[in-house]
Amino acid sequence: EYIGDDVLFSSVIKGNAYGHGIKYFVPLAEDCGVRHFSVFSSDEAREARRASTREDTHVMIVGMINNNVIAWAIERDVSFFIFELDRLQAAVREAKRIGKPARIHLHLETGMNRLGLDPDTFKKVVLLLKDSHQYLSLDGLSTHYAGAESVGNYVRIQEQIDRFREYTEWFEDQGIEAEKYHTACSAAALNYPETIMDMVRIGIAQYGFWPNRET
Ligand SMILES: *Cc1c(COP(=O)(O)O)cnc(C)c1O
Repeated sequence: EYIGDDVLFSSVIKGNAYGHGIKYFVPLAEDCGVRHFSVFSSDEAREARRASTREDTHVMIVGMINNNVIAWAIERDVSFFIFELDRLQAAVREAKRIGKPARIHLHLETGMNRLGLDPDTFKKVVLLLKDSHQYLSLDGLSTHYAGAESVGNYVRIQEQIDRFREYTEWFEDQGIEAEKYHTACSAAALNYPETIMDMVRIGIAQYGFWPNRET
């Protein structure tokens, strides 16, 4: 209700569903209508798929994956985050070999955690996306707000929100549009509703906890 009807809810189940157990949590969430799950590793993605009771459930890997599991992800329709150019090139290579597009999310660096694509690489990313469009399905453009639960980070989060908007507009100007724009974790969705966009990645709040006392 809070995020609205048109927003996709991705249930974050990294860390073995925050300790609850992926194999118990996934079918339970599916019973509540959840069809999208975020995991950190390919091992967790395998576990989530094993636990799933639904054909229409999608699994997305939000952590770094090794080039050697990209093929597996493409074959199983698992989407994954791209943090660097090298991984994007590997995704194209594997997709060509398999003959099926890789479902990717470009993760943009908007803060200071140095994890994600930065403006220096954007032009190369666009070239690759255009040259290899039949091998890449751009499922998402994303970023992450670390520390959105603390009011001390208010200014930085605002800057990240602005930067994300600026970057995505730049991509759109180059003719690149993603299926979904997604940035919000629990604290961002609660404290900065404008971060909700097309999809939210909710971990802690779905287990019945507040991110911290301030929030
Ligand atoms: C862990 C994580 C989330 C969820 O964070 P919560 O604060 O538990 O809601 C969202 N996005 C990414 C990329 C994450 O790693």
